[in-house]
Amino acid sequence: MVIEVYPQIYLNEIPLPKFQLKAIHSYIVLSDQRNLIIDTGLNTEQGRAAIIQGIRELNVDLSKTDLMLTHMHPDHVGMASFLQEQGAAVYMSQVDGELINPVYSRTSKTPAAKLYEVLSAEKDFIPALDDEFGDNSTANVVFYPVREGNTICVGDYVFEIIATPGHTPGHIGLYEKKHKLFFCGDHILEHINPSVMFWSYEQDMLGMYMNSLEKVRALDVDYLY
Ligand SMILES: [Zn+2]
Repeated sequence: MVIEVYPQIYLNEIPLPKFQLKAIHSYIVLSDQRNLIIDTGLNTEQGRAAIIQGIRELNVDLSKTDLMLTHMHPDHVGMASFLQEQGAAVYMSQVDGELINPVYSRTSKTPAAKLYEVLSAEKDFIPALDDEFGDNSTANVVFYPVREGNTICVGDYVFEIIATPGHTPGHIGLYEKKHKLFFCGDHILEHINPSVMFWSYEQDMLGMYMNSLEKVRALDVDYLY
């Protein structure tokens, strides 16, 4: 079921059955020309049912829809290839976009995929992870890269890409200046702090995260999604 949270902007709650965080927020922005979906939820049976239900309720034509992914975590990108197969055009940052396919595709031969293959042989280790994260093995997403300052117009809205690295190296948010809306992905969460994980010795992720927090503090925002 979708809920209109702002004119022509709908919240589609996608269940995360085995997570403490019960659901992820996917948003659908409608317009006469192209629609926009922001983030998808995990690629599970329940997830697919929920996202399809929302799409049908709003009569969204996926061939006239852009999908913007705030970052590469499976609860945000999990159904990207599923929606892409039905015609949606996928956008995300270059940095996180380059990470999703090697990390989630079981057929790629990247070091991450090989490690996954080895760990999968340890039956006690990986099955729990598989259960939680759903099947992202088809995540062969072809994406168009977006960067800070790019804008995407949807009806009356002009969303500006704000780079907010920290939670992931290429995390982005969408700022709508005129209506003072900010779609922040996992950069800011209600009640809890987002995880800021170690990625490599070259990157100070916590420093990047703190800088991103300072940056978004300067934005004039009435509604945070
Ligand atoms: Zn995340």
